[in-house]
Amino acid sequence: MDSWSGSCQACGTQGGPLMKFSLGKDFFGRPYDRLSPSSDQNPKWYCTLCSMHKNLQRDFRDIGAEFDKLGVRHGSELSKGDEFRRASLRLQEIMAILRGTQQPSPFLSGHDVTLLMERLNTLTMPV
Ligand SMILES: [Zn+2]
Repeated sequence: MDSWSGSCQACGTQGGPLMKFSLGKDFFGRPYDRLSPSSDQNPKWYCTLCSMHKNLQRDFRDIGAEFDKLGVRHGSELSKGDEFRRASLRLQEIMAILRGTQQPSPFLSGHDVTLLMERLNTLTMPV
């Protein structure tokens, strides 16, 4: 099962080079729980553009999940100053990439990224 003879599983492009996208580590360097169904159960095949967008979505989702942990309980990666800065920078980068691409991302809307950036900005940066 190391080849996929079909099309991109996100946009349906055929004939182009496809890359197997498999979640390894998350944005904060933690391995995904491979037993949970929502994680890395089925590697998918995406064209170059979609796999790039899939990466952006993954980082966006990881940062959003850590943001939700803030204030609810301790142990959010974003309570560390370095990770917080890295996450803010990454969101800006994701936004810039989304603005710069011709087609909308199949996975991520610029609106959602803007919202998360605004929510991050309401926080005081931890030290
Ligand atoms: Zn695609």
